[in-house]
Amino acid sequence: MLKFKWLPAFLFIVVILAFIGWNSIFSNQEWIRLVGINGIQLLVGAISFMWLYKAYIRSTGRKRHFWFLLSAGLLFSFTGNFIWLYFQVTHNVLYSNEFSSVFWVLSYFTFLLALMNRTQLIGFTFSSRTYTFNLIIYMLTASAITYHFLIQPFLLATDASLFDLLLTLGYQLVDLGILFFIIILYYRIQSKKEEKIFLFIVAGLFLQITADSLSAYLSIGDKYLPGSFLDLMWISALLLIGGAAFYNKETLSQDMEQKENISDQKRSTLPYVSILSLLLLGIFSNSWHFNALSIGLLFAFLLVLGHQLYIINRNNKLMAELRYSAYYDSLTGLANRVSFIGDMKIIIEEKTEEQVAFLLIDLDRFKLINDTLGHHIGDEILKKTAIRLKNSLPATTEIYRLGGDEFVITLPHATERTAAETAKQILASFEKPFPVRSHEINVTTSIGISLFPGHGTTSEDLLKNADAAMYLSKEKGKNIFSFYNAELNKNMMRKMDIENHLVKALELNQLSLFYQPKVNLETQEIVGMEALLRWKHPEMGWISPAEFIPVAEETGQIVPIGKWVLEEACRQNKLWQDQGLPSLKVSVNVSVLQFQSGKFIKNVKSILMDTQLPPQFLELEITESIMQNIAESTEVLEQLGKLGVKTSIDDFGTGYSSLHVLQKLPIDTLKIDKAFIDELDQNCKQPMVKAIIDLALNLGLNIVAEGIESANQMESLIEMGCPVGQGYLFSRPIDSLEFEKLIGLSTLTPETDAKQPAGSS
Ligand code: C2E
Ligand code: MG
Ligand code: MG
Repeated sequence: MLKFKWLPAFLFIVVILAFIGWNSIFSNQEWIRLVGINGIQLLVGAISFMWLYKAYIRSTGRKRHFWFLLSAGLLFSFTGNFIWLYFQVTHNVLYSNEFSSVFWVLSYFTFLLALMNRTQLIGFTFSSRTYTFNLIIYMLTASAITYHFLIQPFLLATDASLFDLLLTLGYQLVDLGILFFIIILYYRIQSKKEEKIFLFIVAGLFLQITADSLSAYLSIGDKYLPGSFLDLMWISALLLIGGAAFYNKETLSQDMEQKENISDQKRSTLPYVSILSLLLLGIFSNSWHFNALSIGLLFAFLLVLGHQLYIINRNNKLMAELRYSAYYDSLTGLANRVSFIGDMKIIIEEKTEEQVAFLLIDLDRFKLINDTLGHHIGDEILKKTAIRLKNSLPATTEIYRLGGDEFVITLPHATERTAAETAKQILASFEKPFPVRSHEINVTTSIGISLFPGHGTTSEDLLKNADAAMYLSKEKGKNIFSFYNAELNKNMMRKMDIENHLVKALELNQLSLFYQPKVNLETQEIVGMEALLRWKHPEMGWISPAEFIPVAEETGQIVPIGKWVLEEACRQNKLWQDQGLPSLKVSVNVSVLQFQSGKFIKNVKSILMDTQLPPQFLELEITESIMQNIAESTEVLEQLGKLGVKTSIDDFGTGYSSLHVLQKLPIDTLKIDKAFIDELDQNCKQPMVKAIIDLALNLGLNIVAEGIESANQMESLIEMGCPVGQGYLFSRPIDSLEFEKLIGLSTLTPETDAKQPAGSS
């Protein structure tokens, strides 16, 4: 079925066929031929009027005046044609008469008013526009031609009546006025993409005044025949003007997706074309003889013109390059952040009734690729990502690279379903690995989606919310998409609350340390303890370290907090030793940020000095992420070794462990992550666990299994040769007073059911 949006084009073809058909069928019956053509003109006028009137009813604010004036203009034009038809039918008059002409001039005048109104609305500045020069040239050329060919013959003609003269003058002046304003509008269309709808009006009115001028010229030589191609031009003009109203709504949204036209070349050459035509017309109208002088003049002009065009062309290229680098990303060729912000503005201003989806796409572990394989490989991946995105999306979808490994796409006319489908398409396009140089690299993405206007009406909010949703995707395990939702907002608010209160937590004595024993798996003897930070806020209650430690790491608060933990753990351990309790090693968790802050070694030294704890009773637990900065970490670890402080790798197996690097690190202990221990429930001979234990033992490292909750897990670990463990099976982390009682016991009896959710104590 014919799509509704093609209606004007379809009508256009029908009208042309009807016009040609009618003209040829009744070529010998002049009266029927002209009445028919007039009829077609009336019909088209009526349809265009209807579209314009609808646009007027639909529009709001000051734009209404414009559509009103255009409708009125069309009504006048229709009336003019109707009067002509009336005289044709009733008086058998073939040619139009003065009444019709008056209405037509009136209709033009109304069009002129409409254009003035519109130009005023969109802003009318001469000073800042390069088109001032061009405008003057066009108007000069048009005025000269109009005067020479259309007005002057009338002034010279002796038989012309005053009415005819006034009518001609009226026509020509209004036509020149219309030309003036459509040039301005045309330039505005080029620089403001949302004004594209006026291309129809500009084209329509241009066609109309061209047809007028031709008919006026032909009339002077009595060569004008009604029903000629000029009528077809007028009919087309009516359709184009009406078409503008028809597409008024639709084009606005579709053109949004098109980038600003980068090249100005066509616009800059037009003035020269018009000067050349003026020169040629001048030469021919004065019946110049081609002599050396006139030929010389022409060539000189052409040379100047050629040179000028060359300069314009070069400047345009430079301008295009400049604009390109301002709006496009040089690595991927995608639109950049500046483009994105500009386009967002338009979306927010124009698309108030339509839902637009924003998909924020972030590559997973891209930093790791850069760090391990080098930036050149990272760049290759980004380029290939841009290509994959382009290939997986419709050509009209705008893709932006906001920076780093962050990409955004906008989907107009979106629903949750279509946005989700697009996200799935994107995820699927990353299923195959990227062949880069000699590597096959698996890259996945995490996507966050926010919807305009539901999830925000400013570009900052929409992006922030898409970002929050994207982080949710990462948290949920990456390689998925998530929509922004109010829950996320709540999470963000909670995170902000935590951030604000954490600043004061230390000062207000809200922090404390709990201790969890490490036991010899075979004898159940306590061989050490891990100090675990606890935060009890007077209103928010117990807050898990899993929740507040990442916030403290983000804000840098972890450095002073970590220092306090270290002091407190050493102080407490020394106190217990002084009280005659068994001497145990205390393990303290250290965040990478703390570990890599220049003062770390100095702090450890001074804390050991202050608390008088012998260094062999302190162990520092560091996560695998220190491996990202291997040289620096090795140095710090070596210095700790020299101090006599023990070190262990916490949560081993969850991060970017490279067993190869592990061999080179001067560490003492490996802590196998709880995730592996959990798997022992399904497979008591979990090969990974066995491999890690064997490797650690071969390297001469101590090994600790963490998160042991069941006797089965314990037995499997004993069988695999793991000497030490830690977990709820033996004891949850408990406060210092309780722990004191516990170490008094020296050996522990495993609980029968330790599989309760991890609490804050
Ligand atoms: P982690 O260092 O791996 O600590 C072990 C976590 O596992 C602790 O959680 C502990 O309570 C929990 N856990 C121990 N046994 C079991 C078990 O059998 N079952 C279950 N489900 N959980 C068990 P917690 O205390 O919530 O600490 C979470 C993480 O927060 C720690 O993981 C550590 O990475 C971080 N953290 C805690 N205190 C500090 C600190 O003082 N400084 C730094 N930088 N991070 C800390
Ligand atoms: Mg730990
Ligand atoms: Mg751990």
